[in-house]
Amino acid sequence: MIVVFKPDATQDQVNQVAELVTGMGLRVHFNKGTERQIMGAVGDDRKLQSANWQSWAGVEQVIPILAPYKLVSRDFQKHDSSIDVRGEKIGAKDKMQVIAGPCSVENVEQMMHLSDVVKTEGLGFLRGGAYKPRTSPYAFQGLESEGLDILMEAKKKTGLRIVTELMDPRDIPLFEGRADVIQIGARNMQNFRLLKEVGQLKTPVLLKRGLANTMKELLMAAEYIAAGGNLNIILCERGIRTFEPDTRNTFDVSAIPVLKEKTHLPVIADPSHAGGRWDLVEPLALAAVAAGADGLIVEIHHQPEKALCDGDQALKPKKFTKLMEKIRAVAKIVGRDA
Ligand code: PEP
Ligand code: MN
Repeated sequence: MIVVFKPDATQDQVNQVAELVTGMGLRVHFNKGTERQIMGAVGDDRKLQSANWQSWAGVEQVIPILAPYKLVSRDFQKHDSSIDVRGEKIGAKDKMQVIAGPCSVENVEQMMHLSDVVKTEGLGFLRGGAYKPRTSPYAFQGLESEGLDILMEAKKKTGLRIVTELMDPRDIPLFEGRADVIQIGARNMQNFRLLKEVGQLKTPVLLKRGLANTMKELLMAAEYIAAGGNLNIILCERGIRTFEPDTRNTFDVSAIPVLKEKTHLPVIADPSHAGGRWDLVEPLALAAVAAGADGLIVEIHHQPEKALCDGDQALKPKKFTKLMEKIRAVAKIVGRDA
C-alpha cells in the first residue's frame, strides 16, 4: 500500500502514521517527492486495508499498489531513480554510464592494462569477475579472494568504481567496503537467500536478468533486495534463452523500455553476454542506447584468444575505443552524454 501525505503534513504526523503502520506488522519505506511525502508499506497489509485511515492526521490517501512488486514499481515512485556510486550516477537523465572490463580477473598485469584502457576512455566503472559462475565445474572458477585483491589494486591506481559478482552470501565480508557495485549474475537472479542478504547492505546492486526469466520475475527479484531496505538497484538486460542457436542468447531490446515503464530503477544492457560474439557487441550496444538504456556493461580483453573466460565476446581495446565513439554519437541523439 502507499500512504500519500498531504503537502502540509508535519513530520510529527508522518512519524505517528509510520508508527501505526509498523504496529500492524508492516515495513515502511519513505519517498520524498517534490510536493509531498509518500510512504510505502509492505508486508501483509490486510490490517491497513481495513483501517480507518481517513481519520489519520496528515494523510491524504491510502492506495494499493497493484503490481506484485511494490517498492520498485512506478506506483511507489514516479520519477526515475539514479543510483549514486561514489559520485557517479547510474540512471541520470543526461548521462549514461559505460562499465567495461574483462569477464574475469586473470592476473595483475591484465587488470592494470585493462583498467588503464577504461580510465583513458574517460569512464568511471571497471568490471571484472573474481568469483565466476561457470557451467562446468572444471572450467576456470575465478581467482576468488585474490581476484578481489587485484581489483582493489586497480581501484587504488585508477580510482575506478569496481563492479564484481557475488555468488555466495558467505563472501559478503570480503566485498563490503571494497566492491562499489555488487553484481548478482543471471544464474543467481532467483537465489532468494542471496537477494535477501544484499538487501541488508547499502552497496548498489547490479541485478542481471536470468537466462529464462520474465521481466516480472526480474522485478520480483529486485523487490527482494528492496524489501530488505536496499533500493540501490540497477537492472540489467543481458539476453534471454530462445530457440535461436546462432547467438549465445537473444537480446531482448524491448525489455529496456518495458522495464522502464514498470519500474523507477535504472536499466542497463549487456551486449557482450547477449550476443556472445564480439562482432555483435557494437550493433547490440547501439540498439540498447537508442532504446533508452541508462548504461552498458561491456567485456573487453587485450588478448581475447587467451582469455580464461568469454574470449569470443571480448572487444579488443582499439575496437572498444571505436565503439565508444559510436555510443557517444547515438547517446547524443537520445539526449545523453556517455
Ligand atoms: C558476467 O557478467 O560475466 C556474467 C557471468 O554474466 P551473466 O550472469 O549475465 O551471464
Ligand atoms: Mn562474462
